[in-house]
Amino acid sequence: MDLKNEYLHQEKRFLQRWMKQSIDACSRLYIFLKIHDAWVYHATYVLNIRVYMSRFRCFGNKPGQEFYAHYHDFEWGVPVHNDTRLFEMLILEGAQAGLSWETVLKKRVGYRRAFHNFDVRKVSEMRDAALEKLRQDKGIIRNRLKIYAARKNASVFLEIQQLFGSFDTYVWSFVGGNPIVNAWETSQDVPVTTKESDALSKDLQKRGMKFVGSTIIYAYMQAVGMVNDHLTKCHCYANLAV
Ligand SMILES: [Zn+2]
Repeated sequence: MDLKNEYLHQEKRFLQRWMKQSIDACSRLYIFLKIHDAWVYHATYVLNIRVYMSRFRCFGNKPGQEFYAHYHDFEWGVPVHNDTRLFEMLILEGAQAGLSWETVLKKRVGYRRAFHNFDVRKVSEMRDAALEKLRQDKGIIRNRLKIYAARKNASVFLEIQQLFGSFDTYVWSFVGGNPIVNAWETSQDVPVTTKESDALSKDLQKRGMKFVGSTIIYAYMQAVGMVNDHLTKCHCYANLAV
């Protein structure tokens, strides 16, 4: 074998070895990932959550508050024009009185089950026996006054729908049809009531609704996007400020 052939032969063997090793390395990596599938998935998940939770938001950034962060990012302050959703938020905000919003929000599924998916007519027609039964339901806030207020508020909600065509038309008229866009820099700047919430609260109370004080109503207005109270440094602010 001459020198040239010897060289080519060695080159070929080197390449074959290299390819075999590379394929082996890929296979080993593939097998490793397969064996540790759950672990890799978990690590990726944890990393994603870390990145997600590192963004600035007005609330919901504490450890374990991922669901609250999701609510903040996708619901809080987004304008709502659907009557069923407007009714749902009204009942939930009323149930919040004296408690944290996070506590009530965690019971949202329980509320949907207990109150016919917030079908206003069905809630207005709930009998006393059904309401009394809800006082044992751990899925909701078991406060008698709040439970009965849901039915009363449903009746008033229906009356408003009849008078104005929709609750949406009625409630948004208190802010002239468009969201009020604020520009608060710190959470201390955000008010708990405004003249608009005073007016809406007063009108709802006059019509017979319960648990609709001005503070509750202002929180409601923030939640359904009638007012944009995301802080200016919040990543949601700009999207909702237009
Ligand atoms: Zn925010």
